[in-house]
This record gives sequence, structure tokens and C-alpha cells, in this order.
Amino acid sequence: MKQYIALDIGGTKFMVASFTENLLEIKRVKYNTPEDFHEGIDLLNKMINEVSNKDRIGGIGAAIGGPLDAVRGIVSPLHQRQWRNIPLKDIMEEKWECPFYVDVDTNVAALGEYHLGKYGHEKFLYITLSTGMGGGYIIDGKVYRGFNGNHPEVGHQTINFRCRYPEKVQCECGSPDCIEALVSGNAIKRIYGKPAEELNDDEWSEVIYNLGQGLRNIATIMTPDIIVFGGGIAFGAGEPFLQKIEAEMKRQLTLVKPPQLALSKLGYDTAIAGAAYIAKNGF
Ligand SMILES: [Zn+2]
Repeated sequence: MKQYIALDIGGTKFMVASFTENLLEIKRVKYNTPEDFHEGIDLLNKMINEVSNKDRIGGIGAAIGGPLDAVRGIVSPLHQRQWRNIPLKDIMEEKWECPFYVDVDTNVAALGEYHLGKYGHEKFLYITLSTGMGGGYIIDGKVYRGFNGNHPEVGHQTINFRCRYPEKVQCECGSPDCIEALVSGNAIKRIYGKPAEELNDDEWSEVIYNLGQGLRNIATIMTPDIIVFGGGIAFGAGEPFLQKIEAEMKRQLTLVKPPQLALSKLGYDTAIAGAAYIAKNGF
């Protein structure tokens, strides 16, 4: 028997879990992310020891913030300042003597949702709406990668937006009029001065309108079969939210058939599930 190890390496929390050969979870642990890089690597190794049993480790998969080089396994997560050009694949393969795969957290989450959620759609887009807005596009069960290994940045499309405070619309990427700068958790706090769950109906209707414009672009240009939403904002708002953004998306979608919209089946476990999937199957 082999076991597989999944790492969710986040800017505030590390989560590590062990899985059986059938990708059933055995044990998981969670710790705060240390500031120091060496402490970070030591902590990951300690966490792997903590969750693993006596069986041989068949592979390790990891989800981490971008940017990164998935082929060489070199990572520079934006929100972990000391982690710059880290050869994480080499470090982990030498230490644990098994294959190691790492990809951007949104791609890994998309793989987890698609494979462990058992969807089977040909063109499957996963969008996370939490502090930021990102996504992973799965085509025929594999992560779609464009030029230079880039994945589509659905949060950084410009839209014709509605906002009562246009001067507060500033994207962290530096470009103007990005949808992420209007609908993400950080954007909502910057624009309206409060978290999403405290928005009044008028403010919320701006968010719905803006998201609807983004979905209309996505449906028109990427033509996915289904768009699945995860992340705290999407979950917090739930099914009524989904129905409203669907209506807004469809309102002016004239030339293509609207994709199905759904909330994630795996909830907050998409990244760890996806990390387990790549630990076993690679890319
Ligand atoms: Zn942007």
C-alpha cells in the first residue's frame, strides 16, 4: 500500500493531509505560515511526518500562490515574501525520495473540484471568489495552459463596470478596470469599507452587475460548459447569489449558449483535494 501527501501552502496557513491510494483522506494538520523561509520548509517536513503512516509515500502534491514554474517546480508565491525562486520540487524530491508536483492554487483547486467532485464536463471552469478572484480552466480533465505556461487570469479582465466610488477601483496588478478590483473580498473592503456580508442591497447589486459582465465575457470568449464557484464570498452568499449573477450574465448574452453555473461541491477542501489528486496522478 502507498499513501499520498497533499500540501496547501497558503500565505496565512499551511495545511497538510495524507490520503489512501483511493484518495480518501487519512489525517490532516494545519499551522500558521511562518515568516521565515527555512522555518517554512522545516514546518512542512514536520507536518508531513505528522500525517504520514508507515506506508511508502507514492507522491506529494502541492497548491501554492503564483507565480511559479510548474514544470521545474520553482515557486515565488506573492504573499510569502521570503519565498523567491525556490526550487521546491528539488527540495522535496531530495528529502522524501518520491515525485513532487506543484501548481498555482487555483489550478489545483480546479483539478480537485473536477476529479474528486466527479463532474465529467469537457470544458470546466473553476472560479474562486474570496480575498481575490482567480480560476483554473480544465479541458478534458487537464489544466489548460496558454502561452508561456500562463493560465487564463479571469480576475484581470477589464469590464464596463458600475461603481458609486470609481476612484476606489484599483487592482493589485496595477492595470485599470479589472473585475477583481470590483468584486473580490479585498476590493469590496476597499470600495465600500466593509465585508461582503454587510453590503446593503444597492451595493450588492453593483457587485452582481459587475460579476455578470465578467461572466458574460467568459461565456462569450472561453465558452465553458460549466462554471463552478468556490471561495468565501461565493459560499457566504450561496444559491440566491448564483441565481442573480446567472440572470445578469444571461441578460445580454446573445450569441452563445449560457454555461451552467454551480457552487463547489468540495467547499473549502478544493485545494487540498486537488493536491492529493496531482500527488497520485501528476499533471
Ligand atoms: Zn488586475
